[in-house]
Amino acid sequence: MPIRLVEKRSLGTFVVVWAVTVLAARCVAQDALIQEGHLIDPGSNTIAQHQSILVHAGKIAAVGENLQAPLGVQVIDLSGAWVLPGLGDAHQHITLDFPPAPAKGSVWEGLRLNQSTAERTVRGIRNARALLEAGFTMIRDVGNAAEYADTEVRRAIERGWFPGPTMLNAGKIITPFGGQDPGAAPERGAWWHDEYIDVDSTEQVRAAVRRDIYYGALVIKLAADSNTYHFSEEQIRAAVDEAHRAGLTVAVHVYGGEAARNAILGGVDSVEHGYELSDELLDLMKQKGTYLVATEMSAQNAMMLFGDIGMDVKAFHEHSLQRLQRAYRHGVKMAFGTDASLELADSTRPNQILEQAEIWQEAGLSPQFILKCMTVNVADLMGLGKSRGAIRAGLAADIIATTENPLGNITALRKVNFVMKDGKVIRDSRSTVPR
Ligand SMILES: [Zn+2]
Repeated sequence: MPIRLVEKRSLGTFVVVWAVTVLAARCVAQDALIQEGHLIDPGSNTIAQHQSILVHAGKIAAVGENLQAPLGVQVIDLSGAWVLPGLGDAHQHITLDFPPAPAKGSVWEGLRLNQSTAERTVRGIRNARALLEAGFTMIRDVGNAAEYADTEVRRAIERGWFPGPTMLNAGKIITPFGGQDPGAAPERGAWWHDEYIDVDSTEQVRAAVRRDIYYGALVIKLAADSNTYHFSEEQIRAAVDEAHRAGLTVAVHVYGGEAARNAILGGVDSVEHGYELSDELLDLMKQKGTYLVATEMSAQNAMMLFGDIGMDVKAFHEHSLQRLQRAYRHGVKMAFGTDASLELADSTRPNQILEQAEIWQEAGLSPQFILKCMTVNVADLMGLGKSRGAIRAGLAADIIATTENPLGNITALRKVNFVMKDGKVIRDSRSTVPR
């Protein structure tokens, strides 16, 4: 028996050593020469053929024809693939997994009651990895993370403990009294403080921004119109002033009307959702350079998120398409963001994100425009324009590849089979995917 025990332990030790070695080899940044077939630059709408990318110390050292691999540098052959910069989602909630709502009503309150910040953190780590493996190398997490679970997820990724996208996080969402939970019984008290900070004066707005920054927020998120009252332009301006002074941008959940006007005039960096923006407000956004993060989801997914709220599925979808077309026609800056957060047996979070890209395509927006919104524009909105969002010398080596041309059809993004993040190969499933 003792001999068998020793044998078993040896085998176990061997397996552990093998696993650690293999995983380390996959996850450590290694200099590489990537030889590619078609290099897509969504920013300039160009495709270059037969280029090579030299990756050194996690960054792109050079891009060009006939680059030679220095001695000892790994050669990665992507010559049959379509190569492009890593993707971004500017409206994520990675610590939040929504089970489908029952026929009537929402699971939102129960979910918050039953899940600890620790659980939300672990969910965030799981979702961050899944997003990265699908090719999403940048995300902006816009709050709803219990007691700052998003900060812990971001720090764990930055420390290299777990693989994940480059991330900005918002911490608690700042709202007028009541969070995004209208109609709570008075005896329940301000129970929404688990996810929200409520503020009702300009000074309170400033204090809330400082509090979020203190607990690790890298972007400030306001929700302006979740109740019938909303932030004034002065209150918005105070949040923007306080955030910008600390080098942070401001994202505002708002659908339309006066609340949206106050947000835009108050100088926010992005309007989130904006489902009811009038032509006049879209013009104002264009004038002010405000980003729209449109979060267009399918009617089916909206019902699973919010419950059956008597929605006319066909009208909802038509409205989504027309709103995207109007924003595009008005020339509003758009960064791709989704709100995708359903926990479904038959559709992963990356799938839900890509479904939304397909809605953009159905609205008539070109794959090139969509890719630009998913790469360059997300990087710009996140303040990462000088370091990510394109494949160019000096930028981080965030590189993905697909088997089909996403400029021909955006659904090709479902066939990402190679992901490199900061020079580390995160996923390489090329041999299992037929060319
Ligand atoms: Zn959201």
